[in-house]
Amino acid sequence: MAALTEHQQMITDTARRFVREQIIEPRLDQALDRSSEFPHAVMRALWELGLMNLEFPENLGGAGLSCHDHVLVLEEINYGCLGIGTSVAANSLAALPLLLADNIGARKEYLGRLTAAHGYAAFACSEPDAGSDVANLSTKFTKRGDKFVLNGRKRWITNADVADFYVVFAREQGSKGHGGIATFVVEAGWPGVRWESLIHKLGQRCSHTGDVVFEDVEVPMANLVAGPAHGFKLAMATFDRSRPWIAGGAAGVIRRARDESVRYAMQRRTFGEPIINHQMVSSMLADMEIAYQASRLLCLHAANAVDVGNLRGSHGACAKAFGGDAAMRVTTDAVQIFGGYGYTQEFVVEKLMRDAKLLQIYEGTSQIQRLVIARDLMRQALQ
Ligand SMILES: Cc1cc2nc3c(=O)[nH]c(=O)nc-3n(C[C@H](O)[C@H](O)[C@H](O)COP(=O)(O)OP(=O)(O)OC[C@H]3O[C@@H](n4cnc5c(N)ncnc54)[C@H](O)[C@@H]3O)c2cc1C
Repeated sequence: MAALTEHQQMITDTARRFVREQIIEPRLDQALDRSSEFPHAVMRALWELGLMNLEFPENLGGAGLSCHDHVLVLEEINYGCLGIGTSVAANSLAALPLLLADNIGARKEYLGRLTAAHGYAAFACSEPDAGSDVANLSTKFTKRGDKFVLNGRKRWITNADVADFYVVFAREQGSKGHGGIATFVVEAGWPGVRWESLIHKLGQRCSHTGDVVFEDVEVPMANLVAGPAHGFKLAMATFDRSRPWIAGGAAGVIRRARDESVRYAMQRRTFGEPIINHQMVSSMLADMEIAYQASRLLCLHAANAVDVGNLRGSHGACAKAFGGDAAMRVTTDAVQIFGGYGYTQEFVVEKLMRDAKLLQIYEGTSQIQRLVIARDLMRQALQ
């Protein structure tokens, strides 16, 4: 893997310094975990430093950075706190359909808002009965005059309560399966739109997750991002493109668990010596390093595939599946290395373990990643 460019080193250092000074040293990560408070001040500071919305093009006021640059920054932010990292990435996730589809007006209007002023967006695809099975979603739209009318309930929506707008997937009344799904931008302040039921989660508690409800919401034609034949494909293309970011988050939490574990293992003594000298402990530490290097390389491989325009579904899926599973294993081992103390809130490793679990669930579970990879293999074999 090539050395980082001067600019990549600069943004990585900026993010790393911010995370150390503003999140880790004041133990803000653990405080936010206990309070479940949304980290508005941190998010605003990240926006002011230019560390949010990184891949937005320069003509929309964005930084115009590459996916490679983006995952480097995400690794640093997620080293500090996966919950903060998730809410940061949620903005970019909501932006992707607008960047991938052809509605230039909506792209300029809504992404321009996020670069002109600090704000939030949310990607609203999942529903109470449609998570992995996106084609089963039931939020409906009908056409009435020159408007669309939207009705339904989305669930598990990151940034539900803070978003200024939602990118919503809904099906044409009467349609079934993949066909008939369209994509809209819906503003949070419009009549008939409300969020409710913030979810109390196992981890990543400072990232807020909730339902978004649409009741007879009128959506102007200009806010149709993808028509009924294209919405499902757009959702899948969005996930292909966003999974390297989740892999960047996984690399971040793995590195944090490794660092916390090495430090503790050098201090904690049993049987007259630091536990790092016990081979079964040092073996766990070595496995953490293997997991870190491998997950980072897979993540960068997928990000580079994005940047050179050679992305296959399996790139992001391999990186996310490996990273998510490795993060769960490594953070669980970190708790093990801390022994009884690892099972308490005195140390951060129990939080890392709870936070990491979500990496195996959102943006496609680890099982769904394997389906994506196997289908890609089949497609390649048939070519
Ligand atoms: C904290 C959090 C934040 C989220 N943020 C967002 C967001 O911002 N926007 C959004 O749209 N969604 C979001 N999600 C939703 C998330 O993407 C879904 O939860 C996820 O895709 C799984 O869907 P499900 O929960 O309905 O599980 P199900 O689809 O019901 O799956 C249950 C289990 O069955 C397995 N399974 C299902 N189908 C198959 C299959 N064909 N083969 C093998 N195994 C299978 C799954 O792997 C899983 O283990 C979020 C979820 C959480 C928990």
